[in-house]
Amino acid sequence: MTEPALDFVIAALEKIRESSDHSPRASRTMLRRLQLADFVAVSLPAAAELRTGGRQTSASPSGPRLQGASNKAQLLEPIRERVCACKKCAHLASSRTQTVFGVGNPDADLMFIGEAPGVDEDQQGEPFVGRAGQLLTKIIKAMNFARGDVYIANVLKCRPDTPSGTFGNRPPTPVEMQTCRPYLVEQIEIIQPKVLVALGAVAVEGLLGMRGTMRELRGRWHAYNGIPLMITYHPAYLLRNQAPSEKRKVWEDMLQVLERLEQPITERQRNYFL
Ligand code: SF4
Repeated sequence: MTEPALDFVIAALEKIRESSDHSPRASRTMLRRLQLADFVAVSLPAAAELRTGGRQTSASPSGPRLQGASNKAQLLEPIRERVCACKKCAHLASSRTQTVFGVGNPDADLMFIGEAPGVDEDQQGEPFVGRAGQLLTKIIKAMNFARGDVYIANVLKCRPDTPSGTFGNRPPTPVEMQTCRPYLVEQIEIIQPKVLVALGAVAVEGLLGMRGTMRELRGRWHAYNGIPLMITYHPAYLLRNQAPSEKRKVWEDMLQVLERLEQPITERQRNYFL
């Protein structure tokens, strides 16, 4: 880490400790980001991604800024490599075809989070490529984005195993999600999207450690580490339940996301049904 960057981080941490009941911490990802930074005096953000007890904290708005640090693709690469080699869940490491890290634009404003790869994703190494994934892609396009504009990842990076000779997928267990969650946390810390969308109750449990029914959770804003989080149904649910009312709910959630992103919404989009 460059000396000025280090000095700035220490000063920011001390300031947080003095002014808060919470212990300051700087994640490995953020320190790595500082290490890669060209430290140029302007204004703040990257170093301000120090958090107290999960709350995002700004140090000084007029403080120095890290410029050129955000080669997010470069920052994601070592995490991808760790995931590729990961054997923390021995049963999944031995049954997977490959890990499924995430896909899309590392500079995305919008990030979708699902629960785990299924059989298609395990084969192709990319999240949301099966039938549910095709529906997600349709939703993304209806929002006027290309799939490559957003970032898509799962809580779990390996396909949950199923007994040999059986078909279909199973949801990840809480232990599996807890074990794999740190990788997702690092992805979010690097990408820093403006809005997160969690797809389904299992993804919510994996991300927030919170259980609830979709009826309670969806359609309103939550937050993850200061990032607005919209919870909506997993596209697989819409494949099982083709009722227009359910599809419309998901679309209304996406309209809220577009508003939050300050994207223009056409009349056609307002009246759209998936
Ligand atoms: S699910 Fe995650 S933690 Fe478990 S082996 Fe795969 S990459 Fe590692």
